[in-house]
Amino acid sequence: MDSPTSQPRPAKTALSRVEHLPEPLRRGGALQAAAAEQFALKIPAEFASLINWENSEDPLLRQVLPSAQEAAPGGGTDPVGELSSRVAGGLVHKYGHRALLIASSACDIHCRYCFRRHFPYEQAPPSAGRWAEVASYLNQHPEVSELILSGGDPLTLSTRRLSSLTDSLTSVRHLRRLRIHSRTPLVRPQRVDEPLLQWLATLPWPVVLVLHCNHPGELGSGAAQALAELRRLGLTLLNQSVLLKGVNDCEQTLAELSETLFDQGVLPYYLHQMDPVQGASHFAVADQRARALVNALRNRLPGYLVPRLVSDPPASESKKILA
Ligand SMILES: *Cc1c(COP(=O)(O)O)cnc(C)c1O
Ligand code: SF4
Repeated sequence: MDSPTSQPRPAKTALSRVEHLPEPLRRGGALQAAAAEQFALKIPAEFASLINWENSEDPLLRQVLPSAQEAAPGGGTDPVGELSSRVAGGLVHKYGHRALLIASSACDIHCRYCFRRHFPYEQAPPSAGRWAEVASYLNQHPEVSELILSGGDPLTLSTRRLSSLTDSLTSVRHLRRLRIHSRTPLVRPQRVDEPLLQWLATLPWPVVLVLHCNHPGELGSGAAQALAELRRLGLTLLNQSVLLKGVNDCEQTLAELSETLFDQGVLPYYLHQMDPVQGASHFAVADQRARALVNALRNRLPGYLVPRLVSDPPASESKKILA
């Protein structure tokens, strides 16, 4: 397998080597170290620069810092029931008219609440030979009108590999849209470079880019610039967030998130109730409180700035709308 990236990415870092980490934040002891062992700490530089390292409750830090609380019981390793829906070449076909491609096994950031933190990526590693298999599966499934590039993060692939993927997809005549799920433009905005923009601009399908931002503090100047470039291409820009205790479970924060996203040309799409993944139960917010938060947003924002509150039950072909 050749390297999936075109640019150097921050290396996975041992907790003890995180430059900015103040001493009190390293006191999780053996359990914190075990959490970092199980799912490595990974914080890209731009995201790190937005963290207030003096505040152990910082909502950005909380998303990425391994915690002793990850050892708490509860949650599973396949919380949305994807493993049984894997078909060919890294495709997951759980949602009828759209297929999802695990295009890359890497991410630029490791989010502690990630529902794929236990995903067995090594069973279908992204490789050059896979794209033909993907196109062939899609050609046999005329009901699929949209392909979702997911991961990991698809934008950790080099632009050359993304192009070779979309070149193979042009044989799939019934494909009407391409969707890209990515956190990269926000956490490593320099990835949105000229070659990437050119690739996006020449794709033969309408492109929907679904970003992942949980807190308005994540939208720094680098992200703003990347989003401005993407907006210029006329892509549809949407955002999905995960509702996380101690990060964004607050009416004011969620309202400000929607407003800030809109300022940058992005519409809020989903607010996910966190999937019950092992190691993240300390982030869970009860359904009743989640509904109350979203209903409160309805009183202070225009309808198009209120994300749909959803959950993703394992046996379901679509999201369950909670509010
Ligand atoms: C729900 C979901 C999808 C499909 O989403 P829709 O936006 O409802 O079409 C794709 N990927 C993941 C990870 C999801 O949870
Ligand atoms: S960017 Fe997405 S896929 Fe990657 S760790 Fe975060 S939540 Fe998981």
